[in-house]
Amino acid sequence: MEIQPATGKSLRHAPDNIPDELADIIEYRKSGLSLNHVIGCPLDCAYCVRHLFANYNMKRPHLVMNDEDAVKRLVSHWAFQPNITPIQVFNRATDPFLPGVKDHLMRTLELLDARKLTNHVLVITRWKVLPADVERLERLGHIRVTILVTWSGITDKRLEPVDSTIAEQSLATLAVHAKRTKRILYWRPLIGGINDSDHHIERANRLAAMADATVFTGLFHRAEIRDHLASIGAETSYVQTPRRKILPQELERRVINRFSGSALFRKTSCGVAFAHGVADYNGHYGIREICDICPASQLEICANQHEQPDKNRMDEVLKIAGLERQNAIMSDGYISVQNSEEQQRYYIQHSMCYQVHDRALPHHPNRHGRAEEGWE
Ligand code: SF4
Repeated sequence: MEIQPATGKSLRHAPDNIPDELADIIEYRKSGLSLNHVIGCPLDCAYCVRHLFANYNMKRPHLVMNDEDAVKRLVSHWAFQPNITPIQVFNRATDPFLPGVKDHLMRTLELLDARKLTNHVLVITRWKVLPADVERLERLGHIRVTILVTWSGITDKRLEPVDSTIAEQSLATLAVHAKRTKRILYWRPLIGGINDSDHHIERANRLAAMADATVFTGLFHRAEIRDHLASIGAETSYVQTPRRKILPQELERRVINRFSGSALFRKTSCGVAFAHGVADYNGHYGIREICDICPASQLEICANQHEQPDKNRMDEVLKIAGLERQNAIMSDGYISVQNSEEQQRYYIQHSMCYQVHDRALPHHPNRHGRAEEGWE
């Protein structure tokens, strides 16, 4: 496959004084090792996580590093494992399909593909995916690409200036033109009292028919996001500002009861796994209640792969992650650790497809990793 040259419509370089979190272009997240060498976005979703990086006011996308150097940095990252580590591209501070950004997305994917890597690559967008884009994606031969099309159905322009019909059209384009490229209806953020009506759920049902899988999730309601929503008069009814996303129990139950598609998932990695016909790389199968809405065929795939890690392998992985062996305890379906950082836990989790929880942040049974607000 040919790596196409940059078009010359190059992005401006980011200023030198960007926050350290943004200058550091690689971040390990639960869904994968995330590469972010373009930052800045004009789409103005009021609940954007860029509030957390003091980047919300950068409306023009900027280049932090060229694609070749970014890919080299990714594949030489201590946590990167060829053909294993899931990768995400531009999921933190821009939209990968924006004009100008898209060139860098495609080139980054082609550079990864040229290395004959078979890692999952997740690309999240709410912008325009055109037939020519899909054609170019379909030429990739090794990396397993999933496009997650963010759709919320929110019509309050203060919350979300971008019309949801753009995402609907992108999903329709992928449905017609994509074969090896998988597509997910990424139904988010679901916010109680804002986009959770029966009408919204019916619209999501219609869209789900065009996707390989549907993943639904709630709202990050951190203090910075809450304050911004208040400043534009678009507060939600939520009170808490937790680390996890808020998705109240009653809303989750209603979505599940009214969903009429074939494959609905609580977890991003589960939707990706189903779309590609492989087991979940986050090992959620160990927390069996998460799987109570999963199609039987997928349950079987995950069950067949689910295996308690062997002691030697666990020793090796914990050592690379820099965690004390004596602090790791094998529990029923997950490994319990302490004094860990997210990137250490995700490295172990992805290395062995097995859940890893820190004892300071325990898993609450039957809450499916949602924040406490709205749950009994
Ligand atoms: S079986 Fe469980 S872990 Fe596997 S994809 Fe389904 S929900 Fe996820």
